[in-house]
Amino acid sequence: MTTLTERASPPARATARPSLVGLDRVRLGRALAEIGVPERQVNMRVAQLWHWIYLRGATDFGAMTSLSQDLRFALDRAYTLPRPEIVDEQVSDDGTRKWLLRFPAGGAGRPVEVETVYIPEEGRGTLCLSSQVGCTLSCTFCHTGTQTLARNLTAGEIVAQILLARDRLDDHPGRSAPANGATSRTGRLITNVVMMGMGEPLYNFDNVKDALLIATDGGGIGLSKRRITLSTSGVVPMIPRAGAEIGVMLAVSLHAARDDLRNELVPLNRKYPIADLLAACRTYPGVSNARRITFEYVMLKDVNDGIDDARQLVRLLAGIPAKINLIPFNPWPGAPYECSDWDQIERFADVVNRAGYASPIRTPRGRDILAACGQLKSASERLRIRERLALEAMIAR
Ligand code: SAH
Ligand code: SF4
Repeated sequence: MTTLTERASPPARATARPSLVGLDRVRLGRALAEIGVPERQVNMRVAQLWHWIYLRGATDFGAMTSLSQDLRFALDRAYTLPRPEIVDEQVSDDGTRKWLLRFPAGGAGRPVEVETVYIPEEGRGTLCLSSQVGCTLSCTFCHTGTQTLARNLTAGEIVAQILLARDRLDDHPGRSAPANGATSRTGRLITNVVMMGMGEPLYNFDNVKDALLIATDGGGIGLSKRRITLSTSGVVPMIPRAGAEIGVMLAVSLHAARDDLRNELVPLNRKYPIADLLAACRTYPGVSNARRITFEYVMLKDVNDGIDDARQLVRLLAGIPAKINLIPFNPWPGAPYECSDWDQIERFADVVNRAGYASPIRTPRGRDILAACGQLKSASERLRIRERLALEAMIAR
């Protein structure tokens, strides 16, 4: 593991100038009209700015050579294109990178910190974004769940995580040739995005929606909706809207096949029990065998990893186009669980496979830098040395 603490990106200054990052095209047009861009030019200027901000990753209006000098000055006087401050950047032995990012208070309260993780794999690279600072839910196996919610991230802050990762990986399509070592078809390092960092994305619906529509806009970041996955712990009333209004792939954190056990692991289940959750999955807009729902299942030793649990799980999912993702539990200090033994995970996976489901066992990535699923937490609550040593001993076991 290496730690590079640095401030390579322009730090987000406390400034009265609003940021343009995260505005949709209509709001961007309004921002241009406000500084005097004539009505008939607005659409063209929006397209130009969009290209600079999202395809080329510009952080400086002065670099926007397709705009007149007057307009560049006017933009610079009125607006900014900030990046969050990088408080810490860690690179795992397996190439996973984790950034601890600080966003200014923006309105009220203190600045907040979130984590963003990049996971390189053969032929693709996945960026895991946070949607909230902390989480209002408290799933008993999740580290983030032990941190109370500080606030929702804005659309700009969610999009800024993508732009910052592209800065650090030199992966802006309009700025750099395909990176060395990029093995994806597109030649880019970041090929996929998952909303699986800190927070429950469906409890910050409007901002997540705005951010993901920007991420999928073909004139800019341009990710396909099939390459973005939104993971929810089961906020049932928002699931149809996620499908209809955002249209990305859905992942559901199921983790148990019985209500009594799921009530314990994912307390939100008391409000939205399994039957309601699965009903929302069956009718998820666009669901088909080509666009399956991923069911995430964390493997907790002697809690939910029995063969009977596996059988119940496949019975439950009958008829839903599904993939089952088995996630070895990632430990954190004070966690009340252990990860299932490897041969038990394989036995569980066998039952699921024999029922006709693909059930990849997710290889834990970035565990040495606490970047794996459910290990994220803000630095304001970072581990004390004693906790870290305890964790390292746990991982080494
Ligand atoms: N709040 C959303 C998305 C963030 S969590 C949700 O719960 O789906 C992303 C995934 O990591 C979820 O499936 C979550 O259940 C899982 N997870 C949380 N803590 C974990 C841990 N300690 N080990 C393995 N997976 C974990
Ligand atoms: Fe929140 Fe998801 Fe963690 Fe549950 S698993 S506490 S919903 S971040």
